[in-house]
Amino acid sequence: MKYMYQCSECEQIYDLGPELMLCPDCSRKQEPTRPLRGVLEVKLEGQPAQNWQPRDLLPVESEYFPAMPVGDTPLWEPYRLRKALRFPHLFIKDDTVNPTGSLKDRASFLVAAFARQHGLDRIVVASTGNAASSMAGVGAATGLEVTIFLPVRAPRPKMVQALHYGATLIPVNGNYDRAYELSLEFSRTRGGFNRNTAYNPLTIEGKKTVALEIIQQLGQVPDYIFVPTGDGVILSGVFKGFRDLISLGLAPRMPTVVAVQAEGSNALYRAYLTGDFAEPVSAATVADSICVDVPRNGYHALKQLKTYGGTCISVSDRDILAAQCELARTTGLFAEPAGATALAGFLATHTHIPNPSTVCLLITGHGLKDIDTALKSVKIPRKAISRIEELP
Ligand SMILES: *Cc1c(COP(=O)(O)O)cnc(C)c1O
Repeated sequence: MKYMYQCSECEQIYDLGPELMLCPDCSRKQEPTRPLRGVLEVKLEGQPAQNWQPRDLLPVESEYFPAMPVGDTPLWEPYRLRKALRFPHLFIKDDTVNPTGSLKDRASFLVAAFARQHGLDRIVVASTGNAASSMAGVGAATGLEVTIFLPVRAPRPKMVQALHYGATLIPVNGNYDRAYELSLEFSRTRGGFNRNTAYNPLTIEGKKTVALEIIQQLGQVPDYIFVPTGDGVILSGVFKGFRDLISLGLAPRMPTVVAVQAEGSNALYRAYLTGDFAEPVSAATVADSICVDVPRNGYHALKQLKTYGGTCISVSDRDILAAQCELARTTGLFAEPAGATALAGFLATHTHIPNPSTVCLLITGHGLKDIDTALKSVKIPRKAISRIEELP
């Protein structure tokens, strides 16, 4: 297989290399407080083996892969949820079981492998929490020094996790968008390979493996895939996976991809309706992993939604918390709020979806990653007992 970079805007081709992040031409058109211009994608050519594996379609040789079982996550057939919703072909792609508890490991895995191949030993990343804890964990497995920029109010479990893996944590006064800017300034002025989502082309490429696995597990292209969406990189990764397969003659068509945003952080949804990204509002949602003022991959994500007939919907925090509970109670899968957002989107729209359709929900992050929010929906009993007789 042969790999190169291609600009998602002007389609210019570039050699793959650690120096290049954005298209040098298109990134000159960058405006402040707007999504990134000149996002690069990996373009691949060749013919994979008959019994190809998702990792065969990644632009780094397997000898550089971290010793960590990222991906290969299970596809559930949740019969109680299927029955309750009368959707016999509903599936759950459970990415909570990745080593650090979120889908972000797919991107970190490829970034770490690439760093190893190119002899880079320092990684810098800004995050709402999961990309940081993920990069820290995969970095530990690989032997990379990881510096993370996180909003000072990021969920504590994600911080604790990153610190345990040995990362250097730089809390930022401000939100994720501010952390993103500071991390870019840091890698520019002090060095380090920047893993920021959408900015580093390997993030989309790494996340595409989720689509490759789904088609192998299902043996067909699903009709619908629901994707929780913040910066829009998982979304583009899903599109990229199916596009690769179509271009290689390994899949017949695109699924209908549904981007699900939180009402309080729905810049992509608004751009989907109006055609452009307006001035950002201050994002606020219980689903911290999809809380972004400016979706960094916004232009690219929007273009793909329009090109491939995808849709974008917006759900309330209440719907997200209700979906988190319903998922746990009917399937046994405990997801963080962003992780349950795909279900919230499906619950809001399933009556309009032709049935039976094959529907796949991406569950992207583990419930224990944000205990404070999970506690909003349950109560820990106050009173402890010493003897059974104290029970009513
Ligand atoms: C990062 C993340 C998302 C959203 O991914 P984007 O690429 O930012 O759209 C969704 N769920 C979880 C758990 C995440 O960590």
